[in-house]
Amino acid sequence: MEDQIQKIIIIGAGPAGFTAAIYAGRANLHPVIYAGPMPGGLLTQTGTVENYPGFPEGIDGYTLMDQMEQQAKQYGAILEYGTVTNVEKEGTLFKLTLQDQSIRKCEALIMAAGASPRWLGLESEQRLRTHGVSSCAHCDGPFYKGKTVCVIGGGDSAMEEATALSKYTEKVILIHRKEEFRASSIMQERVKTNPKIQCRMACVTEEILGKDHVEGIRIKNLKSGETEVIPCDGVFVALGHVPNTEILRNIMTLDERGYPVHNTAPEGLFFAGDCADPEYRQAITATSSGCQAAMDAEKYLNSLHQ
Ligand code: NDP
Repeated sequence: MEDQIQKIIIIGAGPAGFTAAIYAGRANLHPVIYAGPMPGGLLTQTGTVENYPGFPEGIDGYTLMDQMEQQAKQYGAILEYGTVTNVEKEGTLFKLTLQDQSIRKCEALIMAAGASPRWLGLESEQRLRTHGVSSCAHCDGPFYKGKTVCVIGGGDSAMEEATALSKYTEKVILIHRKEEFRASSIMQERVKTNPKIQCRMACVTEEILGKDHVEGIRIKNLKSGETEVIPCDGVFVALGHVPNTEILRNIMTLDERGYPVHNTAPEGLFFAGDCADPEYRQAITATSSGCQAAMDAEKYLNSLHQ
């Protein structure tokens, strides 16, 4: 694999990457996918996906991704479990460095590396990660049966986490820095009508408390200026995501949030999914952009070999 020049490499094995692989595979481009640190992407960490068309009963995220993977492999895609740590341009080729320092080269590159959870940036948050601080209710929720947890955030992710956690826990306290949630009304409604969920609005998290495990959280009310300590057993941080684009910094411009700046990508580089989508970030938009990226890449490769 190291010495070969691939026609097309796809970075990322989420809905965008697998869809790109299905299209590129069907176009006989023999795509190679580098799965990175989270094969299957963020959907493997969610519960039931209710809004992916074709599944009126919903489908669990892991199964959906597994099926996409099988479909991509059926058309010749090769899934590699390496992580790409740097991308450079050498003439018309892309030169990728993997975690083990080995090199891969390709003519067209599809960036579908997704996004990673955003954290508050508190020392106590990092120290207590995996000791009561989590970003995944579906992964860690079952550990909190009958307990009290806090969820931080005001978007759809926070609503989803709070609702999912309420199925296991005694009480969920949802903490948001503004007076209004930004989440969609259907998700807000589920939270507001759930008797197990209490909302604390206009409150910022100052510290997560506990020596070896989470014991509470200290918040400050931005309206009254008062601080309050809430005893709890777990803290779920649901503040959205940061695009996984850092490896492209040498070959193009990224904006202050890390999203690709339009028209600065070198020829032959295409984007798909959450790594380039600050707005929609849905499984269905990721798959559709994966399709577009693969079709654009195919057109580009045809022009290269004319
Ligand atoms: P969003 O960016 O929508 O929300 C992030 C939330 O975190 C905001 O409320 C924001 O506050 C808050 N926040 C960000 N940084 C901080 C900070 N440092 N301290 C305190 N609070 C902070 O991300 P989501 O992941 O919730 O949603 C992303 C996209 O994915 C959306 O399009 C959403 O619709 C979609 N989604 C859909 C789901 C579904 O339909 N089932 C489930 C999950 C996500 P503020 O409001 O003040 O900016």
